[in-house]
Amino acid sequence: MILIDGKKIAAELREELKQEVSELKTKYNKVPGLTVILIGDMAPSQIYVRNKEKSANEVGLKSEVIKYPDTVDEKTILEKIKELNDDESISGILVQLPLPKHIDKQKVIETITPSKDVDGFHPMNVGNLSSGYESSVPCTPLGCYLMIKKIEPNLSGKKAVVVGRSNLNGKPMTQLLLKENCTVTITHSRTKDLKAECLEADIIVAAVGIPELVKGDWVKKDAIVIDVGINKTDNGLVGDVAFDEVSKNAKALTPVPGGVGPMTIACLLKNTIDCFKRAQI
Ligand code: NAD
Repeated sequence: MILIDGKKIAAELREELKQEVSELKTKYNKVPGLTVILIGDMAPSQIYVRNKEKSANEVGLKSEVIKYPDTVDEKTILEKIKELNDDESISGILVQLPLPKHIDKQKVIETITPSKDVDGFHPMNVGNLSSGYESSVPCTPLGCYLMIKKIEPNLSGKKAVVVGRSNLNGKPMTQLLLKENCTVTITHSRTKDLKAECLEADIIVAAVGIPELVKGDWVKKDAIVIDVGINKTDNGLVGDVAFDEVSKNAKALTPVPGGVGPMTIACLLKNTIDCFKRAQI
């Protein structure tokens, strides 16, 4: 079984991005800039943002974190986003989710100009992705996609099952696999027989949030299995895939932690650089 080492693949991607940033700097005499807006002091968000900033600096991006207390009003945030939209030195804008209840998430997402939407959540990017046009793609499914392609460069005709239909993961993942000419089944909480669906799959991407939902006998021999789940349990951090059981059948599997997580951040950097490049044309 191939253990898909997300840490290593992400480090390789960051190395390529660092090289690219250096070339862009020579060509344009400026570097891509990422601005993250962080509202409140929730510990996980603080950690995510710190890691994003550290990785951005490592590859040579200009990065900035703008912090607000969780009492900040919606208008202040929307005005700041508009200011960043107009700032030519900023290539990508990310507002760290979740937001306090009094701030409308959709309004925030739609205020970020699509060309700087490094999370790929703006309806225009969602539409472009599903129409097969160039767009920012949400970082986690993009990371999953890059890992799958490392294992199997030609996905045409493969059967893929995506478990979970969130806007963040399941839906964009489905679009990426469709673009690669996979036959994709998207499953969710109302799917009648999830095991039977998974048993058909050459590729399974599990993005659910239920510890070890996907069992060993749900997985066809030689399937590629990507585990997006991050679940805190009494036994520590586990994914949505029963790792020990599934590793006996699968051709390739991502661990949790050390699989999808590191790729998510690397893809945020990639998206920032891609936004910069599109803006130069
Ligand atoms: P979500 O709660 O928005 O969506 C979960 C999806 O799972 C829903 O579509 C739901 O229909 C489906 N589902 C629920 N129960 C099911 C069942 N019994 N069978 C089949 N489908 C079922 O979750 P999300 O935001 O997509 O996140 C999913 C998981 O991925 C979480 O554990 C989250 O922490 C993790 N995550 C990881 C990363 C990363 O970088 N590794 C990034 C984002 C999210």
